[in-house]
Amino acid sequence: MRVLGIETTCDETAASVVQLKAGGGGTILSNVVHSQIAEHAAYGGVVPEIAARAHVELLDNLVRRALEAADVAFAELDGIAAAAGPGLIGGVMVGLTTGKALALAGGKPFMAINHLEAHALTARLTDGVEFPYLLLLVSGGHTQLIAVRGVGQYTRIGSTVDDAIGEAFDKVAKMLDLPYPGGPQVEKAAMEGDPARFDLPRPMLRRPGADFSLSGLKTAVRLEIEKLGHTPRPGEVADLCASFQAAVVDVIGDRTRAGLRLFREQFGPPRALVVAGGVAANTAIRHALTRLSTQTGVKLMVPPAQLCTDNGAMIAWAGLERLQLGLTDGMDFAPRPRWPLDASATPLHNGKA
Ligand code: AMP
Ligand code: MG
Repeated sequence: MRVLGIETTCDETAASVVQLKAGGGGTILSNVVHSQIAEHAAYGGVVPEIAARAHVELLDNLVRRALEAADVAFAELDGIAAAAGPGLIGGVMVGLTTGKALALAGGKPFMAINHLEAHALTARLTDGVEFPYLLLLVSGGHTQLIAVRGVGQYTRIGSTVDDAIGEAFDKVAKMLDLPYPGGPQVEKAAMEGDPARFDLPRPMLRRPGADFSLSGLKTAVRLEIEKLGHTPRPGEVADLCASFQAAVVDVIGDRTRAGLRLFREQFGPPRALVVAGGVAANTAIRHALTRLSTQTGVKLMVPPAQLCTDNGAMIAWAGLERLQLGLTDGMDFAPRPRWPLDASATPLHNGKA
């Protein structure tokens, strides 16, 4: 069974063909991603209108390349999956409409995929991880702890009440005049810096529940910059980055530990702690999660970097999982810029899913 997956919810235009493996998991036959970093760099962040336009211009060619690279003819596909949200409405419309058109033209089953569900299920594509497990999703748009109990069965255990972690990295980078996207730059600068130089807050540490808050930490960095009274010099930039990253590491460790505890109370022992999202590339954060995994005895699974950030393979895989269960969608499926995985959870303050 082979499915084409299309991803256009943010600033990556992506298409991929994934095939079901006999013993479980999947084989990625192709995974073509165009990251629009260059298109947005001048603005210091993703500009929705530019993103939507770029998706329109790039997507049909990317789909063609994904099929060619997979050496699969269109007729050999068993289904088409497209991310239908949550994300930027313009981009979602491009991917969803393209997916529907391909499905309609080829008379193939169509699956409208929740982008968060695709992140949540990626560890099953790569490692055949069994349910239930805890997902820590840390990206530019999302920061959530989700109990993944089955396909379509998700319970939100914690989430940020304001900024996403990747967003906080990007905003701190901007304050320090580091190039976009800021996360990797902050990590690089932090390697040369003193994490104890600035005494920054650890918001939500040891609070009940497993929610995150990042905006106070970001403001604290801004106040330290103002206190310096001059544009931070390279050594100060490094110390600010190291101090900020150390605070984020402490917060992630504490909140994930709390998330594991809540998971156990509600669903029993998790099979794994799975990490997804672009921030999972950060080495200091990976180390902290490895320590947590050793201490708690919960196996840590971090899919390879190119599958942690936005990609089409995860959409194709979620499509395969749903297709096997007969969970297909009609041509009337509307884009969902907001689409919480856990419909029973209270809506997030930041308006994100
Ligand atoms: P995504 O939203 O999954 O596409 O991931 C992009 C986000 O991850 C951006 O906010 C980046 O700044 C952030 N990011 C990428 N690499 C790193 C890193 N090494 N450290 C911290 N954040 C990162
Ligand atoms: Mg992205």
